[in-house]
Amino acid sequence: MKSKPNDICVTVTSLAYAARPSHAFPGFTTSLPLRNATPSASFTQATSFTLCVASAKPLRVGIAGAGIAGLTTALALQKTPNTGVQQIQVFETRQSIDVAQGAAVNLNGATAILEGIYGVSLRDVAIPMNYVTAREPSGSTIFQVDVDRMVRQSAMAKKELCVNGEHCFMTVMRDDLQNALLNELGAGVKIHRGESNRVVGVHQQGNQARFALKDGSTSQYFDLIIGADGLRSNVRSYVINKEKQPVYSGIRVQWAVAPGSDLPFGMVEQWFGDGAYVLRYAAGSENKKYEMLACSFREAKKVAENPGYEQNTTLRDDFSLRLERSNMPQVVRGVLERSERLIETGVYRHSLPPKWYRGAACLVGDSAHAMPPYLGQGANQAVQDAHCLALTISQIDEQYSCLSEALEKYETIRRVPVQAILQASRLAAFLEIQDGAVRSRMRNCFFRLLGAAGIPQRTLLQASRPRFL
Ligand SMILES: Cc1cc2nc3c(=O)[nH]c(=O)nc-3n(C[C@H](O)[C@H](O)[C@H](O)COP(=O)(O)OP(=O)(O)OC[C@H]3O[C@@H](n4cnc5c(N)ncnc54)[C@H](O)[C@@H]3O)c2cc1C
Repeated sequence: MKSKPNDICVTVTSLAYAARPSHAFPGFTTSLPLRNATPSASFTQATSFTLCVASAKPLRVGIAGAGIAGLTTALALQKTPNTGVQQIQVFETRQSIDVAQGAAVNLNGATAILEGIYGVSLRDVAIPMNYVTAREPSGSTIFQVDVDRMVRQSAMAKKELCVNGEHCFMTVMRDDLQNALLNELGAGVKIHRGESNRVVGVHQQGNQARFALKDGSTSQYFDLIIGADGLRSNVRSYVINKEKQPVYSGIRVQWAVAPGSDLPFGMVEQWFGDGAYVLRYAAGSENKKYEMLACSFREAKKVAENPGYEQNTTLRDDFSLRLERSNMPQVVRGVLERSERLIETGVYRHSLPPKWYRGAACLVGDSAHAMPPYLGQGANQAVQDAHCLALTISQIDEQYSCLSEALEKYETIRRVPVQAILQASRLAAFLEIQDGAVRSRMRNCFFRLLGAAGIPQRTLLQASRPRFL
C-alpha cells in the first residue's frame, strides 16, 4: 500500500477499532471503526501491520454550494454503492432555490447519469432538444442538426446518450433541475442555508478538514470536503493555495426569460447576427413553459460578472437596441418584448487549477473549471465530476489504497475531457460572436461549410459524451 504525503500511517498491533480524535468531531463521542483498513504490503508479522488511516472511505462529507454540482455530488455519494459515506452536510449562501435567478441549462451527458443511473425524473420538467437550427437574421438557414438522427447514427451515442430509447439532449429550468435533485436526495443530507453559511475558508487538521463560515463559526470536521461553490470558489483558493480571481473574457451575455413559448416543440435556434449571437430556446413543463434568449456580444468594458444571475431591471432598452442593430427578426425580438425577467452576466474564466484536490479537500463543477456557455456544458460537466468522484471513492480499497489516491484518479479522469471542452467552447465563442458586416458574412459562410461537413454535429456529440471512467 502506497502512502501519500497527506496520509497518516500508523503501525498498530491487533487493531480492529480505533477512536478518532474526539476534538476532531465536536459533539461526537462514539468510537468509530477504522473501516476498510487493509494490511499493507510491508506486512511483516501476524499482529503488526501498517495502517494507512486515510485509506478509510470518507464517512462524513461537507460540501460548499448547493448548485448543480453540489446537489449532484451529494446525490452521487448517496446513490453510488460502497462510497461508505454516512453523513453529508451542504453549506449554501442562498436562502432558497430562487426561480427568479438564472434561466435554463442544457443537459445531455448529464441526463444519462441523472436519469439513467440515479433515477432523477427530468422528462416532466424538461423539453427535448430535437433540432438545433442556425440562421442568419434574414431567416436563411446556415446549418441544422437533427439531434435524434445524430444520436441514432452513432453506435456510441445510442449506447451513451440514450435512456429508455430516448436521446438525452434537453433543456431544463435551473430551479426545476435543482428541485428534481433535491427530491431525489434522501433525508441523510443536511443543507445549511443563508449568507451566514457562506464558506470563507478551509482548515485542515490531520486527514480531516472543516469549513470556516461567514458568521465566524466553523463547521464540524469532515473526512472529505468538496468545493462546489462556483466561479468565485473559496475552496478553490484553499486547494490551489492562493487567491486567484477569474478573468473577464470580453464577452457579455444578456438573457431574457418570457412565459410560454412559440418555438416549434424541441427546436433550439441560433441566430448569427452582426455584433450579436443569440440562442433562442424553451424549457419547463407543459403547465409552466418558458422561452428565452441568451444574447452574446463582445464588450471590452468589464462589468460585474453577476455570478448569481440576478434580475437586471435596467437592461431592456440596451438589449432591445442590440437586437435591432444586429437586425434580429421579430420572432427573436418578440421574446424580449414578452419577457418578464432580464439578466446580464459577464463571461469569466479561470485556467484549470494545477491540482483539483489538496489534503481532504477537492473541487467539482465551476469551482474547478468554469467554462463559457457555448457548448452548453457547464451543468453537464458538473454532473460528470460528481459521478466520477463518487465512483472513485467507492473504489477505495479495491483499486485505490487511500482517499488521496482516489482524488488523484478523479482529477486524472476528468482533466483531459474538461480541458478539451474548455478549449472547444472558447473557440466556439470566438467564431460565433463576430462584429462587422464582412466578418459576420465570412463567419456565416464558414459555418455553412462546417454544417455541410457535419462538424457542428460531431462537436456537439463529442462534447456531450459522458467521460467519467
Ligand atoms: C443562480 C444561478 C443561476 C444560473 N443560471 C444559469 C442559466 O440560466 N444557464 C446556464 O447555462 N448557467 C447558469 N448558471 C451557471 C450554471 O449553473 C453552472 O455553470 C453549472 O451548472 C455548474 O454548476 P456549479 O454547481 O458548479 O456552479 P453554480 O451553479 O454557480 O453553483 C454554485 C453554488 O454555490 C453557492 N455558493 C457560491 N459561493 C459560495 C460560498 N462561498 N459558500 C457557500 N455556497 C456558495 C452559490 O450560491 C450556488 O448555489 C447559473 C448559476 C447560478 C449560481
